Amino acid sequence: MADDADGNRGAGGDFAWALSAAPVQDYLERLHAELAGIDGGALADYIPELTRADRGWFGIALATVDGHVYQAGDSRQPFTVQSISKAIAYGLALEDHGLDAVLAKVGVEPSGEAFNSISLEPATGRPLNPMINAGAIATTALVRDDQEPALSRLLATFARYTGRHMGLDEAVFASERETGHRNRAIAHLLRGYGILERSPEEATDLYFQQCAIRVTARDLALMGACLANGGVNPVTGVVALKRRYVDKLLAVMSTCGMYDYSGGWIFNVGMPAKSGVGGGIMAVLPGQFGLGVFSPLLDSKGNSVRGIAACERISRDFGLHMFNVARATSATVLRRSYDCRRVRSRRGRSAAELAVLDAEGGRIR
Ligand code: GLN
Repeated sequence: MADDADGNRGAGGDFAWALSAAPVQDYLERLHAELAGIDGGALADYIPELTRADRGWFGIALATVDGHVYQAGDSRQPFTVQSISKAIAYGLALEDHGLDAVLAKVGVEPSGEAFNSISLEPATGRPLNPMINAGAIATTALVRDDQEPALSRLLATFARYTGRHMGLDEAVFASERETGHRNRAIAHLLRGYGILERSPEEATDLYFQQCAIRVTARDLALMGACLANGGVNPVTGVVALKRRYVDKLLAVMSTCGMYDYSGGWIFNVGMPAKSGVGGGIMAVLPGQFGLGVFSPLLDSKGNSVRGIAACERISRDFGLHMFNVARATSATVLRRSYDCRRVRSRRGRSAAELAVLDAEGGRIR
């Protein structure tokens, strides 16, 4: 496939897909068939149970903000979400405690280091960001459990994103619990610094459970679509994440979501994303769609080889890099700003409604 002079790649041979009645579906199927031939990479084996995956599994799903879901290949094959859960847990921790309290425990700087590195600020012990293990363990430990167990809350949160009941792969959980000494060591360091307020064992158990939640590529696409859609699940209409935290979560996914490939990823693909060693990648094009790709063969940084290839191709074939904004459509977005305390509609309001507007109108812009 040839690049044109601007470096844009043509989207598939004879363009027959573009003329078909179902162009997105046809495109995904062709892309899937083409990339299924890639067989580089290796299964994650430091969690022994993950080696039971089939090297051939490969699914792609795309869910738009208007609720259409397109799928190709093994898009309904369950696998464990692993590090992609870090994004969901971060959103929940933000909802539970607000930005400042979470920032006090976990930073937002890319570490440039491997996902399991001990990337802590030397003076405070604060993990650099919530997308690496150290930051994720600290984040997960923040999930409230005063009303309901934290795991139930995590599962319920996932269910809001995916629109279906979620469960754990108990064998993968047990396997990581058995072998996860490095994560446990990180948790002890965090406890020593006072970043963790729970016991390290409790925190890592919850973290291992969250990593063992079973998802499909289709689920990842829907999760991404919620984030593309201001936090609202486009199929069910349920709020998966409060709108005010969506940009914050997408920001850390953009800078830190692909471990020590985050810079190269945002350069090449240009979409906030999160990957996991189960072989999943969840990518988001804000305002447009969520993309879920699953293939368990990983590169040396722990990212799915076919998953990266698929996302790179989709981004390139359609010119979807988020900074690739056509000038013609980019009229200034912010022209003047009012809130509803200062400017009211002309509709007649009851005294009670006016009181609410007086108190809360400053939040409407
Ligand atoms: N549970 C895995 C771990 O902590 C998640 C890592 C990953 O997906 N990168 O090692």
